[in-house]
Amino acid sequence: LPQPAIEALQPEDVAALLPRPQPDAQKYARGVVGIRAGSAQYPGAALLSVAGASSGLVGMIRYVGPAEVADRVRVAHPEVVGAGRVQAWVVGSGGGERAGDELAAVIADGVPLVVDADALAHVDGPLPADTVLTPHAGELAAMLGVDRADIESRPLEHARHAATTYGAVVLLKGRHTLIATPDGRVRATTTGTPWLAIAGAGDVLGGLIGALLAAGLPAYDAASVGSWLHGAAATLASGGGPLVASQVAASIPAAVRGLLDR
Ligand code: AMP
Ligand code: MG
Repeated sequence: LPQPAIEALQPEDVAALLPRPQPDAQKYARGVVGIRAGSAQYPGAALLSVAGASSGLVGMIRYVGPAEVADRVRVAHPEVVGAGRVQAWVVGSGGGERAGDELAAVIADGVPLVVDADALAHVDGPLPADTVLTPHAGELAAMLGVDRADIESRPLEHARHAATTYGAVVLLKGRHTLIATPDGRVRATTTGTPWLAIAGAGDVLGGLIGALLAAGLPAYDAASVGSWLHGAAATLASGGGPLVASQVAASIPAAVRGLLDR
């Protein structure tokens, strides 16, 4: 097969794709994202996924999960509300044993979704249109039944193959992030820093992509804009040094602001 050209998204491209509020903007019209991440065992994933969605790019965030986790989310993020209609879901980050049931529930809802972490192992059968899968190499290896080293040595082939197999946009995380569509397009994210190799960074990314889906971006654009902003936010928060995942989330609005006059 001929290899596709890999598109490296430029700041101008991201700026052009950013959802921006119109003068008559209204919170529901800007989009509502639902987060079904975290569990009693991993409450931090819920907080970080919500933090990633709390980028100001979407009108409202709903959290659905165990009561003790929901209480912590409400304390940390007073803007977040409970169950109701959403335009996109984020599922799986820190979901543990709940992830399979959570995935089934959101698939039944039929709206675009981000499938991350523990939910990836349960992907089997048709997914809603505009679904984004966000595995790292180990997660993609488990999904495809190959060795992690094989994914790492041929990431492009495997990302494309997974996108075709699952009929979804596949965002393969790592040192370089690749975003592949079922029809063979591929983008690479050029932002980011090795300091991002920390627990929780992926949870922030999932929430951010979910917010962009809810704001109305198609899956390919939501994944690539989200990945670009996540890397840019990390670079801002890092300043060339160490950082933690919640700082990445807190820097997303500044990364967006850096694009607004383009
Ligand atoms: P996760 O493994 O789900 O926590 O996601 C890790 C996040 O950090 C992803 O966005 C990766 O792209 C990013 N990341 C991990 N390692 C590196 C690295 N060496 N250089 C740049 N980004 C990385
Ligand atoms: Mg992860």
